[in-house]
Amino acid sequence: MKLGAPRISAVTSVTKGLRFRLMLSYVLFFTVLLVTMGFIFRETIRTLLEKRMSKVIDEEWGSVKGYLKIERGQAMWMYDSADPEEAAIVEGLRRSYYILTTLDGKKVLEVSNSYRTIGVETPQEITQLLSQPQPQWRIRTDSRDQKVMVRSGTMVDSGQTYFLAIGRSLDEDQELPDTFARYYFAFLPVLIAISGLLGWYTAGKALTPVIELAKTAQDVSSSNLNVSIPTRGAGDELDHLIVTFNNMVERLRNGIEQIRQFSTDVSHELRTPLTAIRGQLEVALFTAETTENYKDAMVNALQDVERLSQIVRALLMLSQAESGQLPLLRQAVNLSALTLDIVDQFQIPAEEAQVSLVSDIPPECLVEGDRVQLERLLYNLLSNAIKYTGAGGRVKASVTTHDDYVELLVEDNGQGIPAEYLPHIFDRFYRVPGHNDPEKGLGLGLSFVAWIVKAHGGTIEVQSEAGKGSKFIVHLPKASAPAVTEVA
Ligand code: ADP
Repeated sequence: MKLGAPRISAVTSVTKGLRFRLMLSYVLFFTVLLVTMGFIFRETIRTLLEKRMSKVIDEEWGSVKGYLKIERGQAMWMYDSADPEEAAIVEGLRRSYYILTTLDGKKVLEVSNSYRTIGVETPQEITQLLSQPQPQWRIRTDSRDQKVMVRSGTMVDSGQTYFLAIGRSLDEDQELPDTFARYYFAFLPVLIAISGLLGWYTAGKALTPVIELAKTAQDVSSSNLNVSIPTRGAGDELDHLIVTFNNMVERLRNGIEQIRQFSTDVSHELRTPLTAIRGQLEVALFTAETTENYKDAMVNALQDVERLSQIVRALLMLSQAESGQLPLLRQAVNLSALTLDIVDQFQIPAEEAQVSLVSDIPPECLVEGDRVQLERLLYNLLSNAIKYTGAGGRVKASVTTHDDYVELLVEDNGQGIPAEYLPHIFDRFYRVPGHNDPEKGLGLGLSFVAWIVKAHGGTIEVQSEAGKGSKFIVHLPKASAPAVTEVA
């Protein structure tokens, strides 16, 4: 069996890779864009040519009106036959698409052969066309399926109105957009292939940091967390991803370091009483002569066993608490009454330690919390304050209400904590070096305090100076409902 995390093989098939998919979107986008542009260009050329053609027809319309006269129902072209240019113009007009009929369309006065190929309109069609006030523009098809642009309207001569239509073949004009489209669409696959290459290159360049990130992530293991990918300085999403990844690795590194430290501390903490027990039992076994000697050894061993089980119990509870298995029973708790109660309980130990324990507490101060855990918090803070103050010292507990939180202060004028040790005092098993603690605490009390404050959504701050004393400032959220009255 092969152990270890499976390594992600370099993207198994190219077509499944992000680079390929990005390139495909690129190609798709360009294909749609270029095809649409091709059609738009072709239609624009066609429209422009049609516009130009309608202008030419408009000019011819004016010429026809200038040269054409109708006398006794006969169409007469009036021009200077001696002028070859004029003759050619008139000849051209008569030969191109041209028809002249009476207003009702029943009698055709003159029609060119070209016009016959697109079909002479019936009288009904002519009446219909003339019913519109504007001159009519139509695209008609001749017998050879070629398109012809026709303008029709009325012409007045000698007080009589006639129907006149002239046209021009769109054949040549139609060829241009089609030729453009043919060449353009023939060249299109080359353009698409170039866009594909460009897309492949751009996607590859954009994905390089991601691939590097994946490679580095593959090398990350619990024993090798000293990795950090340099950012490219572009300040973009990829740089953000790299920074996030580096931060994650750093958090993992810190977490694993803490776990390592914790395991070392636990084994050290458990080893000391275990070694002591073993020593005591061995000494008793080899040197004890009287029952009294055995009894002494066993009492000492029992004390160490008690300390061992205290450590194990506290650790179990702390890990349950921190993993969320110790749910808080939230209710409105009168912190004033609770603090007074704990202060009272500590009066005798304080007297024994020759420490004066005072309090400054208003009659009622409601917080939202778990009574048992709040008791534990007060207990730990007050026992520490008395423990680390010493004979002749003074400890004060006070509670004050603020707008949206309640402040609990536990201050003493005892040994204090040097600034360099302050950041560690909430760590498990941490004891400030050089502190005089006759009870030899477990170093877990403040870890509990920190968890309780965090679980209540509060904050804790410590102000301390070596030799001058310490001040623990706890902020807890105020209760919204009234306190639950406890039945004694
Ligand atoms: P311990 O069981 O050793 O008291 P804690 O977690 O409660 O463990 O406290 C951690 C360390 O912080 C203590 O060992 C002590 O050195 C220091 N400390 C805590 N409270 C005070 C205080 N009021 N004055 C001075 N030092 C303190």
